[in-house]
Amino acid sequence: EARLQEARQRVAAVTPYFAFKGIERFYDIGGFLKHPEVFEEVITLFADHLRDLEFDSICGLDARGFILGPPVALRLNKPFFMVRKEGKLPNSITGEKYGKEYESGQDRLCVPVDAVKPGQRVVVIDDLVATGGTALAALELVKRLGGVCTELACVIEIKALGARRLLEEKGFGDTNILS
Ligand code: 5GP
Repeated sequence: EARLQEARQRVAAVTPYFAFKGIERFYDIGGFLKHPEVFEEVITLFADHLRDLEFDSICGLDARGFILGPPVALRLNKPFFMVRKEGKLPNSITGEKYGKEYESGQDRLCVPVDAVKPGQRVVVIDDLVATGGTALAALELVKRLGGVCTELACVIEIKALGARRLLEEKGFGDTNILS
């Protein structure tokens, strides 16, 4: 926890937020990616936290989860798969529409049909959890394939937007949010 807190402060220090798409604070992870030692520390923290947990694969959310997820998957020698925006993946199933913090329109996510086998445990990685709408859409897709998301790992969780409550309300209260 202390290490994560310290890393978050470093990430915030090198990741100035700015107004974007009508929201007051947009956390730009491009900031810390430019600093290899901070990027490395974030990946190490995720990997250290996940190392002792039992799970089958890691999934990254479109699009910044594609940057943070693969290095963690490689460190832990786990399969990685992408959850992408609708229409971007062959042989996939598509979820329901979902809204998120900074875009008024609604998106849908899709996941390869063979990404998760029934009973498998999946860790979901993204850069940031705001309302939790995106994460929820991914969790529902994993569930439709018969899997369960045990852990949702992100660098920043905007706690005031209530993602934990949303996940609980929708029946995903057992998914731990690492932020
Ligand atoms: P939510 O669905 O939780 O409202 O929004 C989270 C999704 O939108 C994530 O995929 C995340 O990458 C993106 N997002 C929302 N707000 C921000 C922000 O301030 N900074 C960044 N980097 N991504 C954001």
